[in-house]
Amino acid sequence: EPSPAARSVGGLLSDIQSTIMQQPFTDNYSIIPGKELGRGKFAVVRKCVEKSSGHEYAAKFMRKRRKGKDCRTEIIHEIAVLEMATASTRVINLHQVYEMASEMVLVLEYAAGGEIFNQCVSDEAFSEEDVKRLMRQILEGVSFLHQNNVVHLDLKPQNILLTSSSPLGDIKIVDFGLSRMVSSQQELREIMGTPEYVAPEILSYEPISTATDMWSMGVLAYVMLTGLSPFLGEDKQETFLNISQLNVSYQEEELQQLDPAALSFIQMLLCKRPQDRATAEQCLQHPWLQAPEKILPVKDQEASTSISTSEPQSSTTAAGDEEQE
Ligand code: ADP
Ligand code: MG
Repeated sequence: EPSPAARSVGGLLSDIQSTIMQQPFTDNYSIIPGKELGRGKFAVVRKCVEKSSGHEYAAKFMRKRRKGKDCRTEIIHEIAVLEMATASTRVINLHQVYEMASEMVLVLEYAAGGEIFNQCVSDEAFSEEDVKRLMRQILEGVSFLHQNNVVHLDLKPQNILLTSSSPLGDIKIVDFGLSRMVSSQQELREIMGTPEYVAPEILSYEPISTATDMWSMGVLAYVMLTGLSPFLGEDKQETFLNISQLNVSYQEEELQQLDPAALSFIQMLLCKRPQDRATAEQCLQHPWLQAPEKILPVKDQEASTSISTSEPQSSTTAAGDEEQE
């Protein structure tokens, strides 16, 4: 029996189950006028309502030709990955597909809470408890993808959505436009994601693997906890230099206030060598993400002893030391 990888060429899947609807999209859906939900280089996402059911959806309108190249194959791959991932509640659901002369429309489950990006950069940033819960969910989704030999390759706060924002709902992973199958014989190299989240091996032209996503998970955890982008430089070149030199500060005030386990969690992902990084499954087992009741309470006596004998850590005494540069 052929594995999914056997059907993949250059990491792209070409078999889909969905019926491609040929009638005009607007026969079956009303597009809600006004603000679009999001926009990328080649896609616009709009909120719409299915006429027959009254249900809300997010319609991703994708141009078939981009920079004079036919990209239908890539869109079919994105559909195939979404179909494969219907078994995971952490990945957005695909409802229907439409094809017009110059566009395809992916009708997706509507994630009403929007991007986690908005909360990462706002004053009402996530609490550490929120981040733990959301991070667990993202890891469950990523673990599912990796078990099925799919790498996302564009994990960032703009591609992680929420079912609701207040109260804080559950996450949904979106945007499989850069995703690839990794079990194929040929090695994959050089698929460029977003500069700030890109792993060192992408920059040095080395093979892509599931560990490439795990680097991005480390950046994501850092951003969700601090609101700071760890490698962001003045320009792309500086960002890439920061990444390839692993120029990241663990001295930020925002990090010092956290459970030290959060820091160790990030550090087991932001490793230069892909083989040194934790897998999604290992991340889910990390002490930081365990439910509070699973952590053994420290005996009172031991706790007081350890406090009285503990010495100040040299790394935290020198305030605001900017060693880098
Ligand atoms: P692109 O490939 O252009 O980045 P995405 O699939 O990431 O396209 O969609 C672009 C943006 O549209 C997302 O970052 C998000 O803000 C919004 N969006 C995408 N899908 C949905 C959805 N199912 N529900 C709500 N908003 C969505
Ligand atoms: Mg996107």
